[in-house]
Amino acid sequence: MTQTNLYDLSGRCALVTGGARGIGLEIARLLQSFGAEVILADVNETQAAAAAQDLGPGASGVALDVTDPVAVEALAAQLGDRVAILVNNAGISRAAPTDQTRDEDWRAVVSVNLDGVFWCCRAFGTRMAARGRGTIVNIGSMSGQIVIQDTVVTAYNAAKAGVHMLSKSLACEWAQSGVRVNAVAPAFIETDMTGTYPPKTAQKWRDLTPMGRYGQPTEVAAAVHFLASDAASYITGTVLNVDGGYTSW
Ligand code: NDP
Repeated sequence: MTQTNLYDLSGRCALVTGGARGIGLEIARLLQSFGAEVILADVNETQAAAAAQDLGPGASGVALDVTDPVAVEALAAQLGDRVAILVNNAGISRAAPTDQTRDEDWRAVVSVNLDGVFWCCRAFGTRMAARGRGTIVNIGSMSGQIVIQDTVVTAYNAAKAGVHMLSKSLACEWAQSGVRVNAVAPAFIETDMTGTYPPKTAQKWRDLTPMGRYGQPTEVAAAVHFLASDAASYITGTVLNVDGGYTSW
């Protein structure tokens, strides 16, 4: 009897939004190392193409602005039945007190972090459900569960909470269609997004983390890989914290 490797992704195609750098790129790299073909779908087409070239054979970069539902639908139609794993990773954050938050700041954050996840789930997930197989992992955040001290990112918090609930809703809707939908909720991860905070604030956040350090993009990628793989075949509608214990304290 042959032993099945539940973590093997050979023969599957994974599309990672915002995959040109940061966490998304590490997710793509890890999924590829387990055999998946990877598509880096990013608003920055040049960077996506360069990152794909760096990943080598089996990786490609495509231009995609997740806030554009027409473009999302067009890409899904173009790729047809190819995408078996969708990772909704693209995200932005803008900090500002509420009275200084402009309409366009609120819209931009909600548009990328929540609307974009829905457009991609609708376009790719519906096709997965029609063929009875597929898995989606949405990148949420601990900010979808708790409010972080010393920064005001209200739109981001609200959007990420929406991502968690969207994941649960779609998980239930598609549970009997063979499509699993889960979310990963990272805490502070060392990327460009976190590199801009003042050292004193960063140290405070480390001190508030039971493990005493920021996470690495590869540690988020490992959680995404697990949820995307057959090892998680009975897991749907869950939000997996990758937070060094932050939300436990
Ligand atoms: P980065 O800012 O490093 O990378 C985000 C990527 O998404 C960039 O390539 C960016 O392109 C791309 N992107 C931005 N807007 C769009 C869009 N409209 N359509 C397609 N792609 C887009 O972010 P991280 O790697 O740090 O974060 C990845 C995810 O993880 C996000 O959802 C974030 O909210 C979440 N997260 C991150 C945490 C952290 O500590 N870093 C903690 C918790 C959650 P461009 O280069 O042009 O900006």
